Amino acid sequence: MTTTYAFWLAGRQETGPETLDVHHPYDGRLVAKVSVASDAQVEEAVAAAYAVKDEFAATPAYQRAAALDHVAKRLAERTEELAQLITAENGKPIKWARGEVGRAVSVFRWAAEEARRFNSGEGQRLDTDAGGTGRLGLVRRFNRGVVLGIAPFNFPLNLVAHKVAPAIAVGAPIILKPAPATPLSAMILGEILAETDLPAGSWSVLTVPNDRMPALVQDPRLPVISFTGSDKVGYAILDSVPRKHVTLELGGNAAAVVLGDWNSEADLDWAATRIATFANYQGGQSCISVQRVIADATIYDRLVEKVVEKVGAQVTGDPADAGVDVGPLVSEDAAKRVESWVDEAVNAGAKLLAGGEREGASYAPTVLAEVPDGVTLATEEVFGPVLSLQKVDGVDEAFAAVNDSKFGLQAGVFTHDVQVAFRAHRELEVGGVIIGDAPSYRADQMPYGGVKDSGVGREGVAYAMADYTYERVLVLTGL
Ligand code: NAD
Repeated sequence: MTTTYAFWLAGRQETGPETLDVHHPYDGRLVAKVSVASDAQVEEAVAAAYAVKDEFAATPAYQRAAALDHVAKRLAERTEELAQLITAENGKPIKWARGEVGRAVSVFRWAAEEARRFNSGEGQRLDTDAGGTGRLGLVRRFNRGVVLGIAPFNFPLNLVAHKVAPAIAVGAPIILKPAPATPLSAMILGEILAETDLPAGSWSVLTVPNDRMPALVQDPRLPVISFTGSDKVGYAILDSVPRKHVTLELGGNAAAVVLGDWNSEADLDWAATRIATFANYQGGQSCISVQRVIADATIYDRLVEKVVEKVGAQVTGDPADAGVDVGPLVSEDAAKRVESWVDEAVNAGAKLLAGGEREGASYAPTVLAEVPDGVTLATEEVFGPVLSLQKVDGVDEAFAAVNDSKFGLQAGVFTHDVQVAFRAHRELEVGGVIIGDAPSYRADQMPYGGVKDSGVGREGVAYAMADYTYERVLVLTGL
């Protein structure tokens, strides 16, 4: 019998008049149904969040921290169940799904810690000119209001955690809207949140169809929008609500740069292993998957040989198998899109060095060289297991190639030279530079986000907390 998941409305389980089917991307089987909130139920959730915002903001830090600690503990206890569910709804290999649950645990732990120390206030001396004599400033942060969190399909639990945990940490109510393809693990998070004593109304996890989202986005009771997803939807939201506080975590076509000093056999083995792994993990469906390899001409041929070998060694198949590295994409349509982009590049003269085949929703790990400028693959985010290799001469050309992109999320630079590392930090137009590894490294306390078309604002627990709040200064006179 098919399970139907209820959604969470103001902290309690509810069902609506309609349901949405959730299919396993690997074999298309129906995993479960999830109930969809009606307009009246969405309204009830928003009204409840708005009504409780002042009460929630006033809860003491120890209570919010205790709730966050509880969620971390319960997520950890339910790791295997959650990982299986993530694999079933998203198709990501079970080993990566287990890793994702571990990351979500860490997000809630960080949020508990940050809740305890956040917003202690910052004194500011004002007697730096005559008018400030006898005055003192005290800067504290206050909540902007209720947060609308909108999450993508590719990390169904951890990117949800990155929206919910910071909101609880600052005492801001949140309406969380998971992706329609992958709402199930978010509903289990709801079960765990319901075990806490967070005020009723302070959180909801609702399934809302995309065509009804604009009304929610426009709702004046929701002044903060935290969106992770595609640039197309993200910028449409930003344009539609220019007066709201909007954070956009969008796409990328991250580059791994391998410079000429990274040239021993061990160096190149490590770089090739990391590149092959992080081009393909989760079927390349991560915003910081390696899409471009920019390699110095002096090591290019040796690196290419190793990358092709290691990409070929990636184990594809049923994501439920512990030994599988690469599962299906989220849908057959997604795999067909990737296939059409690769075909376009090959027809325009790109060299296919590995992969290039599709079976249903699965696309083989693929390596291309000499991808001509102007094809879709050269400019857009592929969001699939496809690497493009590019040969350059020296650091100037390598960094120019990284920056020759409309996106700017993270970049990886394989170099031993500390001066070059600092130069990368100064010159690369991205939100994060990873030295000695692929661009795909992320720890949940790091500031995380992009420049250019990769978005605005930052996540990472403390940074999202800052984003959900604003500074208000208190000036004391007569001291
Ligand atoms: P998407 O933009 O299609 O959907 C994201 C969310 O927006 C979903 O919940 C969807 O239901 C919702 N949505 C769709 N239409 C909407 C509308 N009109 N108004 C409001 N919400 C609407 O993205 P996706 O396919 O789920 O995710 C993949 C994208 O996410 C990729 O581009 C990827 O790079 C990006 N991503 C970015 C980060 C990051 O932190 N920068 C992390 C993961 C994924």
